[in-house]
Amino acid sequence: MAEQKNRQYDVIVVGAGMVGAAFACLFAQANPKLKLALIEAHQGASYSPEKFDPRVAALTEKSRSLLECCGAWQSIAEKRVSAYLAMDVWDAEGTGRIRFNSQDVHQPNLGHIVENSLVVESLLNKIQQLDNIAFLCPVRVASYSDSEQQVTLELDDGRLLSAPLLVAADGGNSAIRQQFNFPTREWDYGHSAIVTTVETEQVNQQTAWQRFMPTGPLALLPLDKAGDKHYCSLVWSQESAEAERLMALDDAEFCRELGFASEHCLGKITAVDKRYSIPLRQRHATDYVVERVALLGDSAHTIHPLAGQGVNLGFADVAALVDTLSAAAKRGNDLGSLMTLNKYQRQRKPENLAMMAAMEGFKRLFAADNLALRLLRNIGLSQVDNLKPVKNEIIKQVMGL
Ligand SMILES: Cc1cc2nc3c(=O)[nH]c(=O)nc-3n(C[C@H](O)[C@H](O)[C@H](O)COP(=O)(O)OP(=O)(O)OC[C@H]3O[C@@H](n4cnc5c(N)ncnc54)[C@H](O)[C@@H]3O)c2cc1C
Repeated sequence: MAEQKNRQYDVIVVGAGMVGAAFACLFAQANPKLKLALIEAHQGASYSPEKFDPRVAALTEKSRSLLECCGAWQSIAEKRVSAYLAMDVWDAEGTGRIRFNSQDVHQPNLGHIVENSLVVESLLNKIQQLDNIAFLCPVRVASYSDSEQQVTLELDDGRLLSAPLLVAADGGNSAIRQQFNFPTREWDYGHSAIVTTVETEQVNQQTAWQRFMPTGPLALLPLDKAGDKHYCSLVWSQESAEAERLMALDDAEFCRELGFASEHCLGKITAVDKRYSIPLRQRHATDYVVERVALLGDSAHTIHPLAGQGVNLGFADVAALVDTLSAAAKRGNDLGSLMTLNKYQRQRKPENLAMMAAMEGFKRLFAADNLALRLLRNIGLSQVDNLKPVKNEIIKQVMGL
C-alpha cells in the first residue's frame, strides 16, 4: 500500500510475533476496505532448511485451521512441520503413566509442532500480498497519546500514526499494557526453561514425551528434518539455579544429564544445539481492554509452557477479536469503543483464566513432595489411562476440539 501522508489507519497493531501477525492477516482479509498498520521492532530470523528454530510451539487443530484461514498454513507445511500422533506423560516420582493416541479419538494426529520463526515468516509473506496492511519494520514506538476518538503513536523515526483502535500484540513484557495502566497479576515461578534442539539415538515415534519432575516438567517434542525423525525440541523447566548449572555444562555433559533426566525414553541424546534459558513468569491482565486499546496473546496472558497452550490461547484471542471487530465494522460501529471491545473480553477472559488455573493446579500437583499427593498423582495417571471416556475427553481438550 502506498504510504498515506496523514498516516491515518482503522487499526494499528504493535508486535508482529505469531499472534499480532495472525491478527493483522486475518482481519485485513476479512475487512478489505479497512486499513491496518502493523509495527514490529525486530527483523525476525528466517527459516533455514539445515537448522531448527529453538523456539517451537505445539499447535492444536483449531490453531492450525486459523493459520489456514490466514493463508499461511500451506507454506508452513511445505517447508517443515511435524505432526504428532501420541503423547506420553509420566511421573518421575513413581509409576504413574498415561499415553494418548490420536487413533483413540479417530483423528489423524493430536497436533503439529511448528517453529515460531517459520510461522511468523509465512504470515508476513502473506501480509506482503495484502494491499490494506502497511508493515513497518524495524521500528519502535517512541510515545503514545490518546484522545476521545483515537490513539496516536510516534515512532522512533519521527513518523506519526493514528487510529481509533490500538491492538497490543507486543508480548509478555508489553509496553502498551504498562503505558495504558492495565492492572496485571504477575508472579515469578523462580523457574527457567532451557530450550534447544537435540538429536536422539532412537527415532522420536512422532510422540510428544513429557516427564514430570518435582523441579518442573521436561518435554521432548518430535521434529522431522526431511523424513529424519532423530530430532526433538527440548523444553526443560527447572528451578533457575539448576537451569544455570545445566546451561554451564559442556555439550557432552548436558547430553548425558538429559539422557538420565528423560529416562532414556529415546535412547542416548547424541547431540545438542545452542541452548537458551528463558525465565518463566505467569501474568494475567485483569482487563484486556480499555477505550481504544485491546491486549492480545501474551500481552494479555503469559502461561507456564508445561501444557504448550500459550500461543493456542493467543490464536483463540485472534479469532474472537477479528469476529467482534468485523461484526462492529459491518454495523458501522466504532471499533475502539469500550462497548465493542468488551464483547471480545467477555468471550476470551473466562477461557484463558480457566486454562491458567488448570495449569497452575497441574504444576503444583506435580511439584508436591507430599506422599499423599504423590500417590494421588500416580494412581490418578494410571487410572485415567484405563478410563477410555475420560481419557478421550482430555485428548479432545488438549487438541482444542
Ligand atoms: C519455552 C516455551 C515453550 C512454549 N511452547 C509452547 C507450545 O508448545 N505451544 C503454545 O501454544 N505455546 C507455547 N509457548 C508460548 C508461546 O511461545 C507464546 O504464547 C507466543 O510466542 C506468544 O506470541 P505473541 O505474538 O503474543 O508474543 P511474542 O512472540 O512475544 O511477540 C511479540 C512481538 O512484539 C514485538 N514488540 C515488542 N515490543 C514492541 C514495540 N514496542 N514495538 C514494536 N514491536 C514490539 C516483538 O519484537 C515480538 O515480535 C511457549 C513459551 C515458552 C517460553
